Amino acid sequence: MKRTKICDVLTLPSNQQELIVMGWVRTFRNNQFIALNDGSTIQNLQIVVDFNRFSEELLKKIHTGTSLKIVGKLIPSQGKGQTHEIIANTVEILGECHPEQYPLQAKKHSLEFLREIAHLRMRTSTFQSVFRIRNGLAYAIHQFFQNKGFIYIHSPVITASDAEGAGEMFQVTTFNLSNVPKTNSGKVSFSDDFFGKSTYLTVSGQLEAELAAMAFSNVYTFGPTFRAENSNTPRHLAEFWMIEPEMAFYDLTDNMDLAEEMLKYLIKYTLDNYPDEIRFLEQRQIDEEKQKPQNERSTMPLIEKLQFCIQNPFERITYTKAIEILEKSTYNQKKKFQFLVKWGIDLQTEHERYLVEKEFNKPVIITDYPKEIKAFYMRQNEDGKTVKAMDILFPGIGEIVGGSQREERIELLEKRMKEMNISANDMYWYLETRRFGTVPHAGFGLGFERLVQFCTGMNNIRDVIPFPRSPKNCEF
Ligand code: ATP
Ligand code: MN
Repeated sequence: MKRTKICDVLTLPSNQQELIVMGWVRTFRNNQFIALNDGSTIQNLQIVVDFNRFSEELLKKIHTGTSLKIVGKLIPSQGKGQTHEIIANTVEILGECHPEQYPLQAKKHSLEFLREIAHLRMRTSTFQSVFRIRNGLAYAIHQFFQNKGFIYIHSPVITASDAEGAGEMFQVTTFNLSNVPKTNSGKVSFSDDFFGKSTYLTVSGQLEAELAAMAFSNVYTFGPTFRAENSNTPRHLAEFWMIEPEMAFYDLTDNMDLAEEMLKYLIKYTLDNYPDEIRFLEQRQIDEEKQKPQNERSTMPLIEKLQFCIQNPFERITYTKAIEILEKSTYNQKKKFQFLVKWGIDLQTEHERYLVEKEFNKPVIITDYPKEIKAFYMRQNEDGKTVKAMDILFPGIGEIVGGSQREERIELLEKRMKEMNISANDMYWYLETRRFGTVPHAGFGLGFERLVQFCTGMNNIRDVIPFPRSPKNCEF
């Protein structure tokens, strides 16, 4: 007889059939009821042990975390809270778990504490729910783009181009750091390094995706990206995953339409495929928020928030209009913003939150930003001041997507690179896309963890990636 997974057990008719199940003990009550979990579902299976039939020595070894093999009969549950239970015939301890040494107990632990034991936290219902949804979203992203005929491109993780300007980069080297080769003039001699030049971990796969879009029309990347930015926020990681579609013959509107359709598809996928997890996370959030002051609580419970997002069109406004709204707001007049609102500024988190959570109360797409605060490759508008950029802002998250229509006109691109001190020599390969059969094109980057944050209602980005990397933190 083979082991049956708990997710399958729960769908079987409870007609006394004999089964083998294996898993880890979540709780053991009254020396009689074991809640067993094997990770195939967030539900536990109730195992009933008749303590008269088992030795005290064996029963004493059953604690939260103990792994068990159970052979028993599946019957309709006598108690409340579950449909099925198994009456154990044999109980075999696969691995003991010492209750005084095991950090996870059958009580609520704080997320901060669980972050310190990230090697064990996947064993909790909260993290089981989060990482099951994360897994589903990764699958759904491929499904969404594959259904549309997009080609999945693996962009390189190590890159020599530091021109993207998206963030601080991690250097990649094989030099012995206590004895770095120097040139006669005292500079680091990168020609002696592994790649013969200075190299970094990628901050974005966009430039490579653009090369691929000039051959396949529609492509996407989905891979890890790295930013050595020293921002200790609940929305930034040093290592995160990004999805970067790039489409030839798309303008900014096509780009926004695709991004909005994608986000709605992914949110709907979560609701449709993870109802148990979503319900669990919603309840968790409600319990947690009871401890917060009224004004810090989210306005909508998780499920309602996700449904609202699917059902309503995202608001689309220009940067100029956004600044106008912020300037006119009573919030600004009462001097409640910490940072000055003025045309030309980079919108701060407080401004984004005001627009999304107070003014519109739904996702907002802001377009046509000042060129000074955006990357060199964005398409320049007629006004000479703004570029065809678009950022999508989500409630509670802030920026979830950043994208643009790209500058396909070589003269304008070269001029902008010069102004921004970006070497046309180093970037010759990128410029060749504009030289050889250039076409209008557009694309965007979706931060995968920010999406998972939104879909799970988790406040801190470190709680939606199994092993977070952030400044001064690279454990496990
Ligand atoms: P932010 O202003 O929030 O730092 P950004 O403007 O640097 O974002 P982009 O360079 O446009 O972001 O990257 C595209 C997307 O990647 C962002 O919309 C966001 O969802 C995600 N992202 C950016 N930086 C990080 C980070 N450090 N950790 C996790 N996700 C990130
Ligand atoms: Mn950033």
